[in-house]
Amino acid sequence: MSANRPSSTAKVGFVSLGCPKALVDSERILTQLRLDGYEVTPNYDDAGVVIVNTCGFIDSAKAESLAAIGEALEENGRVLVTGCMGKGDDAQRILAEHPKVLGITGPAAYEEVLGEVRRVLPNTRTPNPLIDLVPAQGVKLTPRHYAYLKISEGCNHRCKFCIIPNMRGDLVSRPIGEIMKEAEGLARAGVRELLVISQDTSAYGVDIKYKNDFWNGRPLKSDLQTLAETLAEFGIWVRLHYVYPYPHVDKLIPLMAEGKILPYLDIPLQHGSPSVLQRMKRPAAAEKTLERIHQWREMCPELTLRSTFIVGFPGETDQEFDELLDFIEEAELDRVGCFQYSPVTGAAANDLPDQIPDDVKQARWDTFMAAQQAISADKLQRKIGTTIEVLIDHVSDDGALGRSMADAPEIDGVVHLPGATDLQPGDFVQGEVTAADEYDLWIG
Ligand code: SF4
Repeated sequence: MSANRPSSTAKVGFVSLGCPKALVDSERILTQLRLDGYEVTPNYDDAGVVIVNTCGFIDSAKAESLAAIGEALEENGRVLVTGCMGKGDDAQRILAEHPKVLGITGPAAYEEVLGEVRRVLPNTRTPNPLIDLVPAQGVKLTPRHYAYLKISEGCNHRCKFCIIPNMRGDLVSRPIGEIMKEAEGLARAGVRELLVISQDTSAYGVDIKYKNDFWNGRPLKSDLQTLAETLAEFGIWVRLHYVYPYPHVDKLIPLMAEGKILPYLDIPLQHGSPSVLQRMKRPAAAEKTLERIHQWREMCPELTLRSTFIVGFPGETDQEFDELLDFIEEAELDRVGCFQYSPVTGAAANDLPDQIPDDVKQARWDTFMAAQQAISADKLQRKIGTTIEVLIDHVSDDGALGRSMADAPEIDGVVHLPGATDLQPGDFVQGEVTAADEYDLWIG
């Protein structure tokens, strides 16, 4: 097949793998394709080319990406690769395993992807604004009523277990005007919840020296507090992910207490022992996190805290693990994920001494999860009898499923509304909590 096959239909297939950040990249590429007059097709058969947006975060994700490329080649034969695996050694690996791919670009390389599509699948039809209608909020892969808003790329930290800075480079913040314009389009198009994401949300703006930028002629400082305050003006839910407990984060809590942004913070703490955090080279490792959490809760009692932890990091002693358990008992976090440490190709932690045996990791994970589940279940039980606001995600013949302010999509619990069949996704409803388990709530 020629790499320059012209097409009058110009249909592009799209396979999106990876985390919410990669999903945002996919959404942007799809938006741009539609603006360019391309049609996006869910089928391999009629696609002139298939784009595979890859994930290279851990080895299993890389294997999944390589398999997806193989499948697209087999089913369609004309494949462009983009995303986290499109750089450095991973790009070489793709070419070695799949030499027939037509082109490879790296993460967030929107323009390059478009250039590649135009090269291998020239669009001979002039875009017509009447038939090539792009919804004002862009083409979305998430349900229409919530959207991810990526505020920066890359990361200035060098956590020992992570290879994201190698793959995505140092922090590059988007100017606030550009973010606000995107958020405005989303809000106007009916999005009810914005999920602010990046690798390190608390670092937003530091690389561009918090420079002033303009939105609708209004000067705004490119810093997190200004961004949160300005996003709050849309009157929709604004949820912050990947925030580290730096002192300046304290200034966001009053916005939560006043109901301007959701009283929710997703803080990937990873451990509760200062010595492990130092060995991990975690940001804000020296901050007095427990003290800070207590202060936040005093300022905003309804604050929901979500976090993730790693057990079995190299050198983790029994005492350090006990410190972690003490930490979660005292912090009483609402939503918690826990992973057993596993080496990622290229990560600095692979060379650390005292790797922990698998059976010890498993035993620590079991202990951790049992302790945390009891805390989470207890916190949810305390919600029975209270009235909460719910954003509806899904409606079926049996009833509706939604989320409260305390639940981020896909990672937290849900609220069940049995029998509530007359609702629509995107509706807000109020109701009294009648039951709870370790993860979910029930209304009615
Ligand atoms: S903060 Fe650490 S874990 Fe997060 S992206 Fe940066 S280096 Fe990786």
